[in-house]
Amino acid sequence: MTRQRKRVYIAYTGGTIGMTRSEIGYVPTPGYLASQMESVLELKSEGMPEFVIHEYNPLLDSSNMSPENWVAIAKDIADNYNEYDGFIVLHGTDTMAYTASVLSFMLEGLEKPVVITGSQIPLCEIRNDARDNLITALIVAGNYKIPEVCLCFGDKLLRGCRSIKFSADQLDAFTSPNFPPLGIAGVEIKINWDLVLPPETNKTHTIEVKEIGKYSLATLRLFPGISAEVVENILRPPLIGLVLETYGVGNGPDNNKDLMKALQKATDRGVVIVACTQCIEGAVHLGEYAAGSALAKAGVISGHDMTQEAALTKLFYLFSMGLSVEEVKLQMQSNLRGELTLPPLKQRES
Ligand code: ASP
Repeated sequence: MTRQRKRVYIAYTGGTIGMTRSEIGYVPTPGYLASQMESVLELKSEGMPEFVIHEYNPLLDSSNMSPENWVAIAKDIADNYNEYDGFIVLHGTDTMAYTASVLSFMLEGLEKPVVITGSQIPLCEIRNDARDNLITALIVAGNYKIPEVCLCFGDKLLRGCRSIKFSADQLDAFTSPNFPPLGIAGVEIKINWDLVLPPETNKTHTIEVKEIGKYSLATLRLFPGISAEVVENILRPPLIGLVLETYGVGNGPDNNKDLMKALQKATDRGVVIVACTQCIEGAVHLGEYAAGSALAKAGVISGHDMTQEAALTKLFYLFSMGLSVEEVKLQMQSNLRGELTLPPLKQRES
């Protein structure tokens, strides 16, 4: 007998969506979201998938997320992988793009949708975006065979590892500047199937989740006047990887010889330094200006058009796989889950 209604597993990690007011501001409140969802009639209608909610303990404001939490979410999905048609991760918006990115890397061999969502206004408020985001995420997770980690927010369905939170207060808070949305939830939900990755060949139909190690990684945004000393201090051991947010197409202060030396010294000892752009949109091309070539000469590699969130979480993921420094560098510059666009061969930096 075939099952009629699709089944969706909701991993509820916290975030504004289920928060209530307190004297110190909004706080996650155990049990509240599930009880509120009981009263949303649309969630019970025929066309909606069945769902179960696994409420995490403690529920987190996503500002408190750490790599251990990423592993717990990935393992939760892997443990329930065969029982459900799709998965939703309810999450705070502040670090949602990081979790969406890291899950894209961790959930290798995905054949079902994993949809991460949350809201800017909690369900407890009369005017909120929580209800609509929940309904759209449920419909997508239950009915669309998108074998990717996606981020669903407002009217957009974005590739998780391409997403960024770009607005602190708009309801349409997320975008993926270097990749078109996978889908738009307008009058109808329209999926751009040409952009969706093909399902991976996963003979076991299981997901194996590896731990994420406690590696010393960092992000550093260049700014006019940044001193070599500051850079040198950040690059000290035990740091093993850095996302360098460079200017424009991947430029840095090549007239600051001490700063360049600090970068060189770090890459010589095996620190993986990945250049991303500070611009919201566009890609790094280290050879375009002398100010970028100098970074490449110091051993900095290109992060192409990856977001800072994708680059940082990819470093966590790759180091956790126990790869050599050379292999980490190679994979950082390769497209693993649709997180970056490679330029044509002849334009690629070494
Ligand atoms: N601080 C909240 C969080 O990230 C913000 C939100 O969910 O919108 O958990």
